[in-house]
Amino acid sequence: MTSTSIHRVSVTKPEPIERDAISARRAIAAEGVRHGFGELEVLSGIDLEVRESEVVGLVGPSGCGKSTLLELVSGLAEPRSGSIAVEGAPDGDARLASCAYMPQRDLLFPWLSALDNAALAPRNLGASQRAAREEALPLFARFGLADFADAKPGELSGGMRQRVAFLRTLLAGKPVLLLDEPFAALDAITRGEMQEWLAGALLAESRTVLLVTHDVEEALYLSDRVLVLSARPARVVAELRPQAPRSPDRAGSVTDPCFASLRSEALRALREGSR
Ligand code: ADP
Ligand code: MG
Repeated sequence: MTSTSIHRVSVTKPEPIERDAISARRAIAAEGVRHGFGELEVLSGIDLEVRESEVVGLVGPSGCGKSTLLELVSGLAEPRSGSIAVEGAPDGDARLASCAYMPQRDLLFPWLSALDNAALAPRNLGASQRAAREEALPLFARFGLADFADAKPGELSGGMRQRVAFLRTLLAGKPVLLLDEPFAALDAITRGEMQEWLAGALLAESRTVLLVTHDVEEALYLSDRVLVLSARPARVVAELRPQAPRSPDRAGSVTDPCFASLRSEALRALREGSR
């Protein structure tokens, strides 16, 4: 990362403490990634590193290229220039094999029940239909979907569909989770509950996560590190390190003065990067 272009912020201590659980191994390494569509320049030289068990949040204005970046990392597309490796492997198929990618649109199969949509993930790993359903079902209760396992996606609200897509991503058993606005379609209360649930799940079992969101508070609450992107063509304009991410007590976290100060910093970087 070019230190000249990045404004590093740490509110309580000059050198932030690393969480013990974060390994030194790089799970995602992107260097000088440039991409665009036709004449449209979308990403203008992104450097990104996510270490094993680290949660990195990506925030940026709408249309700046967040989803594009996630798609490139996932291996579904290749950048025009620069390099991307996931778990040390640079080629697209290997990246795809290491990542569970939750796209912004839920992409559920309309003819399958919610349970069978979620069970597709263990099915793809070779589980029988019965075993796959048994694995998926407990998560339905935890996600407030216990009564909707047999419903078709068309019978679910947008927020419910998003939760089904999210739990399918969790069930994929991949080392790296790429989450594109996973809670965007939820109402504020459910959204807060899901954030707390994810915080607890990540505390119980750490995963490597690249989390795209337009919600600064969500990013700061859930992430070890948050990168702020500029307007298109996107570049990284700030890097913030919450001191104590993912406390199960969300209300306590987000009202902490350090948190509030980081939030102001992030919003300022977003504003300046949007000019
Ligand atoms: P974000 O996720 O930050 O809102 P996107 O990555 O979805 O932004 O899009 C970045 C820009 O690239 C937008 O202007 C969008 O219209 C454009 N774009 C995205 N995908 C394509 C595509 N397949 N073809 C042409 N333009 C695209
Ligand atoms: Mg997007």
